[in-house]
Amino acid sequence: MAIIINGKELAKKIRLNLKEEVAELNNKKIYPKLAVIMVGEDKASQVYVRNKSKACNEVGIEFEEFLLPENTTMENLLNLIDELNNRDDISGILLQSPIPKPLNIREAFNKIDYRKDVDGFNPVNVGKLAIGEKAFISCTPYGVVKMLEEYNINPEGKNVVIIGRSNIVGKPLSQCLLNKNATITICHSKTKNIKEITKNADILIAAVGKPHFVTEDMVQDNAVVIDVGINRNEEGKLIGDVDFENVEKKASYITPVPGGVGPMTIAMLMNNVVEAAKIQNGIKVEWKQFYNKRFYIKNVFYN
Ligand code: NAP
Repeated sequence: MAIIINGKELAKKIRLNLKEEVAELNNKKIYPKLAVIMVGEDKASQVYVRNKSKACNEVGIEFEEFLLPENTTMENLLNLIDELNNRDDISGILLQSPIPKPLNIREAFNKIDYRKDVDGFNPVNVGKLAIGEKAFISCTPYGVVKMLEEYNINPEGKNVVIIGRSNIVGKPLSQCLLNKNATITICHSKTKNIKEITKNADILIAAVGKPHFVTEDMVQDNAVVIDVGINRNEEGKLIGDVDFENVEKKASYITPVPGGVGPMTIAMLMNNVVEAAKIQNGIKVEWKQFYNKRFYIKNVFYN
């Protein structure tokens, strides 16, 4: 039976540590603040934004929400981003996706000042990550890396297979793990003989968006299996991309859904907002982000 990687517990620890850090910043009259822009009334987005607001509240990060109507123009959206870029009290800006079809989300991400781009979607941060420079790393890949680290799973020299090549998960995650000396294979919808590839994975990461896509026969004995997927089954229950029940018997470590990668994503967003506030106030940030002693579990510290 695999060890279950408890993302919920780990995320809670990270939030608690950040709460202390925010209190220290407040003593120096620094107040980290997240601005979230939402366009339209997408129901799922409303839930995500509510969860982010709750996490901010718990950690002590100020939160301001900006709602634009469904029929807003690109000009209005860009003007709002400009305004937030220029506001000294805003540390981080997040544009909740999706946004309505006629609007161009890439153009909007490009407009967010890279120093406030706590989601890591601005091309400057994407590029910096690609060349191994300090950058804001998008929160889901960052959360996955953090989980591996906290469970003492070192990707160096390992065969890592990532299923999915999206800009928000697969691609940045491949860069993060490449920077940590893993050997990376990325699979996508045009990949042939996917099972032959996944069976060689020491670490298998599923970010496909298809319920139970990864079955037991695709997994090598003792592989580490990370499930990024969030899907709903017919009963409306949240399930991942991995057939957890059967894969668990074969894997050495596995993340559950819910309670795995999901909570880590929000925790790393909080982390990025605090770091943004520090940088904007001239406080040195330890940018060896993956070895920050702030994060620990099971009495293991990473320096
Ligand atoms: P996405 O943009 O839809 O990307 C899905 C990827 O899977 C694409 O690269 C696609 O290939 C690939 N794919 C689709 N069918 C495939 C197949 N049959 N074989 C191999 N590859 C296939 O999705 P995403 O935004 O990366 O999200 C992936 C999943 O993670 C979703 O369930 C999403 O809800 C979840 N998610 C979770 C979090 C979290 O916080 N836990 C955050 C973000 C996303 P092509 O590129 O060829 O189309």
